[in-house]
Amino acid sequence: MVEIETRKDTQVFDLLHKELERQRQGIELIASENFTSLQVLQAMGTCPTNKYAEGYPGKRYYGGCEVVDEIETLAIERLKKVFNCTWANVQPHSGASANGAVFLAVMKPGEKFLGLDLSMGGHLTHGSPANFSGKTYQAVHYGVTKNGYVDYEQLESKARAEKPKMIICGASAYSREWDYERIRAIGDEIGAIVFADIAHPAGLIASGLLNDPFDHCHIVSSTTHKTLRGPRGGIIMLRHDFENPWGIKDPKGNLRTMSQLLDLAVFPGLQGGPLEHVIAAKAVSFGEILAEDFRAYSKQIISNAQAMARSFVNRGYNLISDGTDNHLMLIDLRNKNLTGKKAQETLDKAHITLNKNAVPFDDKSPFVTSGIRIGVPAVTTRGMKEDHMETVVEMIDKILMNADDENTIISVRADVKEFMKQFPLYPELGPLI
Ligand SMILES: *Cc1c(COP(=O)(O)O)cnc(C)c1O
Repeated sequence: MVEIETRKDTQVFDLLHKELERQRQGIELIASENFTSLQVLQAMGTCPTNKYAEGYPGKRYYGGCEVVDEIETLAIERLKKVFNCTWANVQPHSGASANGAVFLAVMKPGEKFLGLDLSMGGHLTHGSPANFSGKTYQAVHYGVTKNGYVDYEQLESKARAEKPKMIICGASAYSREWDYERIRAIGDEIGAIVFADIAHPAGLIASGLLNDPFDHCHIVSSTTHKTLRGPRGGIIMLRHDFENPWGIKDPKGNLRTMSQLLDLAVFPGLQGGPLEHVIAAKAVSFGEILAEDFRAYSKQIISNAQAMARSFVNRGYNLISDGTDNHLMLIDLRNKNLTGKKAQETLDKAHITLNKNAVPFDDKSPFVTSGIRIGVPAVTTRGMKEDHMETVVEMIDKILMNADDENTIISVRADVKEFMKQFPLYPELGPLI
């Protein structure tokens, strides 16, 4: 249980309280972040952290697993309802672990795959040279066009020329819809596995507000802590399990169905004991997604993102692709004579949190960047509506237009603190210091 009052280790719990106050008082615009419900937090701080449960429900390597079996089965059954799928694995510790397991299940070291370039909005696990995906496998990339949309023609021509074993769709900094059907068509033409990583927009997909990848992509992975608003973690899902036509074998050389290959890849392939306390919290969050009001939350996210995008455009900001279909936007700050790094650092001082981000065809290094990425899932959870987006953009603009003026920073920081009092976070956990 999250009960700061009963703390004994004051050194650690004082820091935890400090972090809670930071979260309460700031405007959180990191596109990959969110605030879970109190129930999700509480489920995470529970006793299954003490339990070893290597294996899967009904097939464990340890005794005493009857209760965690029920917890994990409940999480799986709820997740299957959330995405209308027939199989799910809820054990990956994170999105990167989920993707690691997908690679391990279907690719041999050295084999080739095609993914969105990191500098164009892709993720580290989609073939960055710094990541296992880029080190273990041969990564080739597609990008976006000058107007900021996925370059499907390039994707298709690279797929035909390179014949990758797998094509990954999905991104970390891309504000537009995906044409999963078109990607599957090229996958079928060259015989490639199509894998959708929906870590970012998963909640909007679960709510039926964005294209559904499940009928077109062989495998789907996600995080649980972004738009799905659950605990930090990963998941892998299939709508249709299948005898894999690629003849992929398990480590013992047996032909397996895709779900079996994926289960084996998560455990014992990549992980040891699952985090059953986190799986309990995942089950709670999946229950919340299945409840009536989650769709309204997702709708509010898109509406807030579009209101924010309009407000930035009205102030002369240059949005990649000129807008957004989902929960985030990418802004090129070059016409404002600012780098992403400077913007992030200055806004941080006023307790407005977001991240610098490369823009497509960026001429600056990934440590500096020309852009920022902004997302609204977290502020939408706090209760903000379209009108509040205008206020938030006004504060951001004021800081960015006066980035070297300490007085502006101090005054906006006070405004931010006052503004956030309208949107309490975990009031049950006690008053502000
Ligand atoms: C966030 C993200 C991940 C990784 O999630 P972690 O939980 O941070 O490991 C994977 N893929 C994409 C596209 C993401 O945006």
